[in-house]
Amino acid sequence: MTLIDSDPDTGLAPLQFTVHRNLQARSAAQREEILANPGFGTNFTDHMVDICWSVGGGWHRPRVQPYGPLSLDPAAAVLHYGQEIFEGIKAYRHADGSIHTFRPDQNGRRLQRSARRLALPELPVPYFIQSLRELIAVDGDWVPSGEDQSLYLRPFMFAKEAFLGVRPAHKVGYYVIASPAGAYFKGGVQPVSIWLSEDYARAGKGGTGAAKTGGNYAASLLPQSEAYENECDQVVFLDQDRNVEELGGMNVVFVYKDGTLVTPQSDSILEGITRDSILQLAIDRGHKVEGRAVSLTEWREGVASGDIVEVFACGTAAVVTPIGVLKGRDFLDEQPTGELALSLREELTDIQYGRRDDKHNWLLRLDA
Ligand SMILES: *Cc1c(COP(=O)(O)O)cnc(C)c1O
Repeated sequence: MTLIDSDPDTGLAPLQFTVHRNLQARSAAQREEILANPGFGTNFTDHMVDICWSVGGGWHRPRVQPYGPLSLDPAAAVLHYGQEIFEGIKAYRHADGSIHTFRPDQNGRRLQRSARRLALPELPVPYFIQSLRELIAVDGDWVPSGEDQSLYLRPFMFAKEAFLGVRPAHKVGYYVIASPAGAYFKGGVQPVSIWLSEDYARAGKGGTGAAKTGGNYAASLLPQSEAYENECDQVVFLDQDRNVEELGGMNVVFVYKDGTLVTPQSDSILEGITRDSILQLAIDRGHKVEGRAVSLTEWREGVASGDIVEVFACGTAAVVTPIGVLKGRDFLDEQPTGELALSLREELTDIQYGRRDDKHNWLLRLDA
């Protein structure tokens, strides 16, 4: 018998998960072959988390089950109206073999904020964290141990009620899948080139820009293809006042020559946990940090005058990426590159992989 401790903050008892083992789980040898060269987002572990929610029943039927296709009614609301949200968070293996994740309370709270905006039910944060633990309990061996490798966890939630009327769904599913991830940059971090999207926006005032929802990504795909056509890696979006927002899936930070770090702030930007952590590490080093509007003009003039000395993007997948070039329809601005972005990246990854003191208590051990 196990004693069930309630969550100290919410008083919630943990969910009672049922575990259905995957009888076709890969062998240790097959797993090791995948982990030797995992790529990103193409290989998945043997199990997944599946929790149901309904208006009458709340969160119920929590399960860990074999990874595999979902069966959906063709009228499921998500397929028609896009009522969907997700998260992205990694599990890291430390040198002693233990498995840790990074600031999961922040991801849990952001999933709740996204849920509110998309009229989905708010999964209690203790359930969110438990869902990661339950998956790691069966698939922990899938957390790779190579340099810069991790197990990328993808929690997501969507409207599965079969109903074509337009209203928040009465039946929802929450899932967690996991995908081993290799080093994002093979052979060292490379600066990326950025295409300035002039014709398309990713979010509008009062829209869903601050929510982690598939629709924002759908809206970014066409401008992203435009970036590729213009030989750029990524696209940057502006708001209606020509202030810088963010890339399709990463936040932007500007470093000024007096050492101040400035990042765009508005209610149409997704608040990244990587950005928040990087800025905290910069504050710890004595840098000033500002969240405010940054116009395209301020960016371009700042680079031209030497006031801006570094520009970088950040997010869970790639951690920190220097921006090397900003390209628009009729200009190409080489960006200055410095040492700060890469040094903050190293400090952050050292904490995540247990190589440096976790002074902010950001890590949570998942396998114990
Ligand atoms: C997830 C995401 C980010 C980065 O957030 P992290 O918490 O740092 O991973 C930035 N922008 C968008 C649009 C995102 O979806």
